[in-house]
Amino acid sequence: MSGWLCIAGLGPGADAQITPEVTQALAEATDVLGYIPYVARVAPRSGLTLHPSDNREELERARAALALAAEGGRVVLVSSGDPGVFAMAAAVFEAMEGRPDWQALDVRVLPGITAMLAAAARAGAPLGHDFCALNLSDNLKPWSLIEQRLRAVVGADMAVAFYNPRSANRPHTFEQVLQVLRETCAPDRLLLFARAVSTPQERLLWVPLGAAQADMADMRTVVIVGSSTTRRVGRFVYTPRSARAA
Ligand code: SAH
Repeated sequence: MSGWLCIAGLGPGADAQITPEVTQALAEATDVLGYIPYVARVAPRSGLTLHPSDNREELERARAALALAAEGGRVVLVSSGDPGVFAMAAAVFEAMEGRPDWQALDVRVLPGITAMLAAAARAGAPLGHDFCALNLSDNLKPWSLIEQRLRAVVGADMAVAFYNPRSANRPHTFEQVLQVLRETCAPDRLLLFARAVSTPQERLLWVPLGAAQADMADMRTVVIVGSSTTRRVGRFVYTPRSARAA
Protein backbone atom coordinates (compact mmCIF):
# COMPACT_ATOMS: atom_id res chain seq x y z
CA MET A 1 0.00 0.00 0.00
CA SER A 2 1.48 3.37 -0.89
CA GLY A 3 0.19 6.19 1.21
CA TRP A 4 0.23 9.89 0.52
CA LEU A 5 -0.30 13.17 2.28
CA CYS A 6 -2.06 16.17 0.74
CA ILE A 7 -1.88 19.43 2.68
CA ALA A 8 -5.00 21.09 1.37
CA GLY A 9 -6.64 24.50 1.58
CA LEU A 10 -10.43 24.61 1.96
CA GLY A 11 -10.72 28.27 0.93
CA PRO A 12 -12.40 30.98 3.00
CA GLY A 13 -15.68 29.16 3.67
CA ALA A 14 -17.94 28.67 0.64
CA ASP A 15 -17.89 25.20 -0.94
CA ALA A 16 -17.82 26.89 -4.37
CA GLN A 17 -14.38 28.23 -3.47
CA ILE A 18 -12.85 24.79 -2.85
CA THR A 19 -10.71 23.76 -5.82
CA PRO A 20 -11.60 20.58 -7.76
CA GLU A 21 -8.21 19.00 -6.90
CA VAL A 22 -8.93 19.41 -3.16
CA THR A 23 -12.41 17.90 -3.64
CA GLN A 24 -10.77 14.97 -5.47
CA ALA A 25 -8.19 14.40 -2.71
CA LEU A 26 -10.95 14.44 -0.06
CA ALA A 27 -12.95 11.90 -2.10
CA GLU A 28 -9.95 9.51 -2.13
CA ALA A 29 -8.86 10.05 1.48
CA THR A 30 -8.85 7.46 4.26
CA ASP A 31 -8.01 10.09 6.93
CA VAL A 32 -8.65 13.81 7.32
CA LEU A 33 -6.83 15.79 10.02
CA GLY A 34 -7.11 19.43 11.03
CA TYR A 35 -8.36 22.03 13.44
CA ILE A 36 -11.89 21.17 14.69
CA PRO A 37 -13.93 23.75 12.64
CA TYR A 38 -12.07 22.92 9.41
CA VAL A 39 -12.54 19.15 9.76
CA ALA A 40 -16.23 19.90 10.43
CA ARG A 41 -16.46 21.17 6.84
CA VAL A 42 -15.63 17.68 5.50
CA ALA A 43 -18.65 15.39 5.04
CA PRO A 44 -18.33 12.06 6.91
CA ARG A 45 -18.55 8.86 4.84
CA SER A 46 -17.69 5.20 5.28
CA GLY A 47 -14.00 4.49 4.82
CA LEU A 48 -13.04 7.95 6.05
CA THR A 49 -11.76 8.65 9.56
CA LEU A 50 -11.96 12.26 10.73
CA HIS A 51 -9.29 13.41 13.21
CA PRO A 52 -10.23 16.88 14.51
CA SER A 53 -7.76 18.48 16.93
CA ASP A 54 -7.26 21.69 18.85
CA ASN A 55 -5.59 24.73 17.28
CA ARG A 56 -2.37 24.86 19.26
CA GLU A 57 -1.29 21.32 18.42
CA GLU A 58 0.01 22.03 14.93
CA LEU A 59 3.37 20.25 15.02
CA GLU A 60 1.85 17.22 16.72
CA ARG A 61 -0.93 17.16 14.10
CA ALA A 62 1.65 17.38 11.30
CA ARG A 63 3.57 14.43 12.76
CA ALA A 64 0.36 12.41 13.11
CA ALA A 65 -0.49 13.07 9.43
CA LEU A 66 2.99 12.03 8.26
CA ALA A 67 2.88 8.87 10.41
CA LEU A 68 -0.51 7.87 8.96
CA ALA A 69 0.75 8.40 5.39
CA ALA A 70 3.88 6.36 6.22
CA GLU A 71 1.58 3.49 7.30
CA GLY A 72 -0.15 3.60 3.89
CA GLY A 73 -2.99 6.01 4.63
CA ARG A 74 -4.34 8.44 2.04
CA VAL A 75 -4.23 11.47 4.26
CA VAL A 76 -5.57 15.00 3.81
CA LEU A 77 -4.48 17.64 6.28
CA VAL A 78 -6.89 20.55 5.95
CA SER A 79 -6.39 24.26 6.57
CA SER A 80 -8.74 27.13 5.87
CA GLY A 81 -7.82 29.37 2.95
CA ASP A 82 -4.43 28.36 1.59
CA PRO A 83 -2.35 25.82 3.55
CA GLY A 84 0.83 27.81 2.94
CA VAL A 85 -0.51 31.05 4.42
CA PHE A 86 -0.13 31.01 8.23
CA ALA A 87 -1.29 27.39 8.22
CA MET A 88 -0.28 23.72 8.20
CA ALA A 89 2.08 23.37 5.22
CA ALA A 90 5.11 24.90 6.96
CA ALA A 91 4.37 22.81 10.08
CA VAL A 92 4.56 19.62 7.99
CA PHE A 93 7.94 20.55 6.51
CA GLU A 94 9.18 21.48 9.97
CA ALA A 95 8.08 18.04 11.22
CA MET A 96 10.00 16.42 8.31
CA GLU A 97 13.32 17.93 9.38
CA GLY A 98 15.65 15.16 10.55
CA ARG A 99 13.25 12.47 9.25
CA PRO A 100 14.55 11.17 5.87
CA ASP A 101 11.81 8.48 5.93
CA TRP A 102 9.09 11.16 6.00
CA GLN A 103 10.96 13.29 3.44
CA ALA A 104 10.68 10.37 0.98
CA LEU A 105 6.86 10.21 1.25
CA ASP A 106 4.44 11.33 -1.48
CA VAL A 107 3.56 14.75 -0.05
CA ARG A 108 1.72 17.43 -2.02
CA VAL A 109 0.51 20.92 -1.12
CA LEU A 110 -2.86 21.74 -2.71
CA PRO A 111 -3.43 25.51 -2.79
CA GLY A 112 -6.61 27.25 -1.74
CA ILE A 113 -8.08 30.74 -1.94
CA THR A 114 -6.57 32.65 0.94
CA ALA A 115 -8.68 35.06 3.03
CA MET A 116 -7.06 38.27 1.78
CA LEU A 117 -7.70 37.36 -1.87
CA ALA A 118 -11.30 36.38 -1.20
CA ALA A 119 -11.82 39.65 0.71
CA ALA A 120 -10.06 41.73 -1.93
CA ALA A 121 -12.21 40.21 -4.67
CA ARG A 122 -15.39 41.13 -2.79
CA ALA A 123 -14.19 44.71 -2.33
CA GLY A 124 -12.79 45.46 -5.79
CA ALA A 125 -9.00 45.41 -6.20
CA PRO A 126 -7.38 46.85 -3.06
CA LEU A 127 -4.37 44.56 -3.62
CA GLY A 128 -4.05 45.68 -7.26
CA HIS A 129 -0.46 46.89 -6.76
CA ASP A 130 2.37 45.71 -4.47
CA PHE A 131 1.20 44.35 -1.12
CA CYS A 132 2.17 42.03 1.71
CA ALA A 133 0.56 39.99 4.47
CA LEU A 134 1.35 40.11 8.18
CA ASN A 135 0.20 37.68 10.83
CA LEU A 136 -0.61 39.71 13.96
CA SER A 137 -0.65 36.68 16.25
CA ASP A 138 2.13 36.84 18.79
CA ASN A 139 1.98 33.09 19.50
CA LEU A 140 5.14 32.40 17.50
CA LYS A 141 6.91 35.78 17.45
CA PRO A 142 7.33 38.75 19.79
CA TRP A 143 5.28 41.95 19.50
CA SER A 144 8.50 43.94 18.87
CA LEU A 145 9.02 42.06 15.56
CA ILE A 146 5.39 42.62 14.52
CA GLU A 147 5.80 46.35 15.14
CA GLN A 148 9.13 46.46 13.27
CA ARG A 149 7.59 44.77 10.21
CA LEU A 150 4.49 46.96 10.38
CA ARG A 151 6.62 50.12 10.34
CA ALA A 152 8.65 48.76 7.39
CA VAL A 153 5.47 48.06 5.38
CA VAL A 154 3.97 51.45 6.10
CA GLY A 155 7.30 53.07 5.21
CA ALA A 156 7.25 51.25 1.86
CA ASP A 157 3.71 52.56 1.19
CA MET A 158 2.26 49.15 0.26
CA ALA A 159 -1.17 47.74 0.94
CA VAL A 160 -1.10 45.17 3.73
CA ALA A 161 -3.40 42.38 4.87
CA PHE A 162 -3.50 41.53 8.56
CA TYR A 163 -4.36 37.94 9.49
CA ASN A 164 -5.31 36.98 13.08
CA PRO A 165 -5.83 40.66 13.92
CA ARG A 166 -7.47 40.31 17.31
CA SER A 167 -8.42 37.50 19.70
CA ALA A 168 -10.05 37.21 23.09
CA ASN A 169 -6.73 36.47 24.81
CA ARG A 170 -4.94 39.21 22.85
CA PRO A 171 -7.44 42.11 22.75
CA HIS A 172 -4.91 44.96 22.94
CA THR A 173 -2.33 44.34 20.21
CA PHE A 174 -4.66 45.43 17.41
CA GLU A 175 -5.20 48.74 19.20
CA GLN A 176 -1.40 49.13 19.18
CA VAL A 177 -1.36 48.38 15.44
CA LEU A 178 -3.95 51.10 14.83
CA GLN A 179 -1.86 53.45 16.96
CA VAL A 180 1.21 52.86 14.74
CA LEU A 181 -0.93 53.47 11.65
CA ARG A 182 -2.34 56.71 13.12
CA GLU A 183 1.23 57.93 13.77
CA THR A 184 2.39 57.18 10.24
CA CYS A 185 -0.57 57.48 7.83
CA ALA A 186 -3.12 60.20 6.97
CA PRO A 187 -6.55 59.84 8.64
CA ASP A 188 -8.20 59.21 5.25
CA ARG A 189 -6.18 56.01 4.67
CA LEU A 190 -8.72 53.29 3.79
CA LEU A 191 -9.10 50.13 5.91
CA LEU A 192 -11.25 47.12 5.05
CA PHE A 193 -12.60 44.93 7.84
CA ALA A 194 -13.71 41.77 6.03
CA ARG A 195 -15.35 39.24 8.32
CA ALA A 196 -16.29 35.63 7.52
CA VAL A 197 -15.87 36.23 3.80
CA SER A 198 -17.90 33.86 1.59
CA THR A 199 -20.01 32.56 4.51
CA PRO A 200 -23.57 33.55 5.52
CA GLN A 201 -22.01 35.75 8.27
CA GLU A 202 -19.97 37.77 5.78
CA ARG A 203 -19.62 41.48 6.59
CA LEU A 204 -17.46 43.99 4.74
CA LEU A 205 -16.76 47.41 6.22
CA TRP A 206 -14.58 50.12 4.67
CA VAL A 207 -13.57 52.91 7.03
CA PRO A 208 -11.01 55.70 6.94
CA LEU A 209 -8.23 55.25 9.50
CA GLY A 210 -9.63 58.19 11.48
CA ALA A 211 -12.83 56.22 12.16
CA ALA A 212 -11.28 52.76 12.62
CA GLN A 213 -11.80 51.04 15.97
CA ALA A 214 -10.07 47.96 17.28
CA ASP A 215 -13.34 46.16 18.02
CA MET A 216 -14.20 46.20 14.30
CA ALA A 217 -11.87 43.18 14.05
CA ASP A 218 -12.04 39.71 15.54
CA MET A 219 -10.48 36.32 14.75
CA ARG A 220 -12.80 35.80 11.77
CA THR A 221 -11.73 39.11 10.22
CA VAL A 222 -8.97 39.86 7.75
CA VAL A 223 -8.05 43.55 7.70
CA ILE A 224 -6.71 45.17 4.54
CA VAL A 225 -5.03 48.55 4.84
CA GLY A 226 -4.70 50.35 1.53
CA SER A 227 -1.62 52.21 0.34
CA SER A 228 -1.70 56.01 0.09
CA THR A 229 -3.11 55.63 -3.46
CA THR A 230 -5.94 53.21 -2.62
CA ARG A 231 -9.23 54.90 -3.50
CA ARG A 232 -12.96 54.43 -3.94
CA VAL A 233 -14.67 54.13 -7.31
CA GLY A 234 -18.46 53.84 -6.98
CA ARG A 235 -19.09 51.07 -4.47
CA PHE A 236 -15.65 49.53 -5.08
CA VAL A 237 -12.17 50.19 -3.70
CA TYR A 238 -9.00 49.69 -5.74
CA THR A 239 -5.28 50.41 -5.75
CA PRO A 240 -3.99 51.77 -9.07
CA ARG A 241 -1.47 49.59 -10.89
CA SER A 242 1.10 52.35 -11.28
CA ALA A 243 3.06 54.18 -8.57
CA ARG A 244 5.67 56.94 -8.50
CA ALA A 245 8.90 56.96 -6.48
CA ALA A 246 8.45 58.68 -3.12
N1 SAH B 1 -4.66 29.71 5.93
C1 SAH B 1 -5.66 30.75 6.12
C2 SAH B 1 -5.29 31.71 7.23
C3 SAH B 1 -5.22 31.09 8.60
S1 SAH B 1 -4.93 32.27 9.86
C4 SAH B 1 -5.88 31.50 4.79
O1 SAH B 1 -5.09 31.30 3.86
O2 SAH B 1 -6.85 32.24 4.69
C5 SAH B 1 -6.60 32.63 10.37
C6 SAH B 1 -6.98 34.04 9.97
O3 SAH B 1 -7.33 34.06 8.58
C7 SAH B 1 -8.19 34.63 10.66
O4 SAH B 1 -7.86 35.18 11.93
C8 SAH B 1 -8.60 35.72 9.68
O5 SAH B 1 -7.72 36.83 9.79
C9 SAH B 1 -8.31 35.04 8.35
N2 SAH B 1 -9.49 34.39 7.74
C10 SAH B 1 -9.64 33.08 7.49
N3 SAH B 1 -10.83 32.84 6.87
C11 SAH B 1 -11.43 34.05 6.74
C12 SAH B 1 -12.67 34.49 6.18
N4 SAH B 1 -13.54 33.62 5.62
N5 SAH B 1 -12.96 35.82 6.21
C13 SAH B 1 -12.09 36.70 6.76
N6 SAH B 1 -10.91 36.34 7.30
C14 SAH B 1 -10.58 35.05 7.29
